[in-house]
Amino acid sequence: MKNNIVDLQDKLQALLHAQRDNFIQGKVADYIPALASVQPDLAGICVATIDGKTVGAGDYQRPFSIQSISKVFGLVMAMNRVGDALWQRVKMEPSGQPFNSIIQLEWEKGIPRNPVINAGALLVSDVLTSHFSASKLAFLSFVRKLANNETIRVDKQVYLSELSHGNRNAALAYLMKSFGNIEAEIPAVLSHYFTQCAVAMSCQQLAQSLLFLAFKGVDPSSKSIICSPKDAHRVNAILSTSGMYDQSGEFAFSVGLPAKSGVGGGLIAIVPNYGVICTWSPPLNSFGNSVVGMNLVAGIAEELGLSIYH
Ligand code: GLU
Repeated sequence: MKNNIVDLQDKLQALLHAQRDNFIQGKVADYIPALASVQPDLAGICVATIDGKTVGAGDYQRPFSIQSISKVFGLVMAMNRVGDALWQRVKMEPSGQPFNSIIQLEWEKGIPRNPVINAGALLVSDVLTSHFSASKLAFLSFVRKLANNETIRVDKQVYLSELSHGNRNAALAYLMKSFGNIEAEIPAVLSHYFTQCAVAMSCQQLAQSLLFLAFKGVDPSSKSIICSPKDAHRVNAILSTSGMYDQSGEFAFSVGLPAKSGVGGGLIAIVPNYGVICTWSPPLNSFGNSVVGMNLVAGIAEELGLSIYH
């Protein structure tokens, strides 16, 4: 069933249409003004497959703030750069705490639970800042290469907004530094992290750029090796257990795909050996996940039988 994509376009349209009443359910992220002003009733879905097909519906070509989805790209870059040494500084366990929690980090002596909560992503940002002479540019080049699109850019307004409201992230970084788990200077680490969060991409660009995670680390269109099969497996495992904030267990239980969401309303789900689903709808539920995005991914996964646990 899952390889029959002849009517995929119709399915995506129908799923999106069925969500119309939910478009303004939930609350658009308002911790920074630049995100609070996003139009709430925009929504899109895109499926890219490893055999080169891309199908979308709604606003799937409109760029949005990728926010925490950037943690996936950063993690792959850091794994490629420092290898297994990374896992001495960050763990791979679900946190069971909100994404920006500080309490656990104190108990656990500055070692973040995983690379996709904020503390872990700041640690990854430290690795990138310390190991690349121009880490922000390296990040952007990596994403542009994966999406095969040189126009992808950082939304300066979102970046500046993050920077001026970044006290909690600064606190996480300084706490880790006090335990000796951050090497670079904190302002540089924060600047890298806020830059990658502020990258704007569309559902189509995100879906295409993450296909390597569905194809054992290889970009299926260019055949370039993006990461090892082992690291692709590890990223998918982390996304399965921790990618959907403190709702990751429920998402695994009901949908069954490695996934990552961001407070910009984006959500990516990896379907190993098939492709990537990306959705976007800004209003979030109380966990910080897109209400419509969760419903759309659940709907298409159910219709096509995509759960990895079947
Ligand atoms: N820039 C956001 C923060 O660090 C990202 C949050 C997210 O998407 O989870 O607070």
